[in-house]
Amino acid sequence: MTVADAVTRPTTVAERLAEVRQRLHAACGRVGRQATEVTLVGVTKTVEVDRIREALDAGLSHLGESRFQEAIPKMRELADRAPLWHFIGRLQGNKARKVTEIFDRVESLDSLELARKLSSAAEEIGRELHVFVQVNPDEEASKGGLLPADLPAFLDEVTTLPCLDVTGLMAIPARRDDTDATRRVFGRVREMFEIQRQRHPQLRHLSLGMSADFDIAIEEGATEVRVGRALFGERG
Ligand SMILES: *Cc1c(COP(=O)(O)O)cnc(C)c1O
Repeated sequence: MTVADAVTRPTTVAERLAEVRQRLHAACGRVGRQATEVTLVGVTKTVEVDRIREALDAGLSHLGESRFQEAIPKMRELADRAPLWHFIGRLQGNKARKVTEIFDRVESLDSLELARKLSSAAEEIGRELHVFVQVNPDEEASKGGLLPADLPAFLDEVTTLPCLDVTGLMAIPARRDDTDATRRVFGRVREMFEIQRQRHPQLRHLSLGMSADFDIAIEEGATEVRVGRALFGERG
């Protein structure tokens, strides 16, 4: 980034949100989609409550957290604003009950053991939990998510659990400098989504794309984008 860019770049959260919305609209426009088809989730890891509140004041309504411990005090402080909270990080089984109590959605479901725990927690609490199944399209050992080959059998199992509503797929592809390569991997996930959706029509959300590439994800069919730095600035 040049110095001139740094000076003219928006600095308040509200300005950044406006810029992100513009990118979102432009991406939708390029492929003939409506901006209302895409949910913007503001990712709040490491972001202080005051900045999150600025985003909510400016109209953001979905928030995503990948760190369970960090989320709890923020959720408590922002409870009066009633944002919709998405859990998007790696989830240990011993947190299943608590996550089910406080989050609206879990996007990082990738094991049957976890699915059973979430389902029984939801049953005890008396709610239905919306979950997305995470896939690992690049088969990276460092990331959670189902291997693409395991996805069909996994979906057959988790969709039979009583208190889970399996409504989407989520993926975090490896970062690539080449935008065509990024586009291809998003396209592959979209294809998995379309195929699985024929067997499981309740699948309607596709969570793909972050600050660096959410425009491409939208062009490739994402219905939800998870954006942190472009909204809140670089993480410290
Ligand atoms: C941090 C994070 C994001 C947001 O990444 P940015 O590059 O800050 O937009 C999205 N999804 C997940 C799962 C994350 O952990």
